[in-house]
Amino acid sequence: MRTEISKTYRIEAAHRLPRVAQEHKCYRLHGHSFQITLRIQGDIDPKFDWIVDFGEIDQAWKPIHDAIDHRYLNEIPGLENPTSEILAEWILRRIRLSRGRVVAVSIAETCTASCTVYANAIDDDYR
Ligand SMILES: [Zn+2]
Repeated sequence: MRTEISKTYRIEAAHRLPRVAQEHKCYRLHGHSFQITLRIQGDIDPKFDWIVDFGEIDQAWKPIHDAIDHRYLNEIPGLENPTSEILAEWILRRIRLSRGRVVAVSIAETCTASCTVYANAIDDDYR
């Protein structure tokens, strides 16, 4: 039975978007309370009747959290232009689980603005 679960995390981080015009508000240094949702699909493990333990997702998330929470994202390799799209892809490429697969990462940087990056839409080296 193919199923999907999701888990949402929060980080606080600063960033600026260096490629926009200097007059654009995102050119200036500012911060967000990013809400990050991982969507995981997989088959149900017949022993436990779940895809994967949510606790394992927490463990897989922790090093990512430690790398980006309360950080200036632009200073992190790969996040020099840290749009939500780039951040979602950056996370997608780094998170691994023993069972199930992270098929999408959604990032909301405000209550009304969010984006989703799908694993099947990025390079073959991830799939
Ligand atoms: Zn921003």
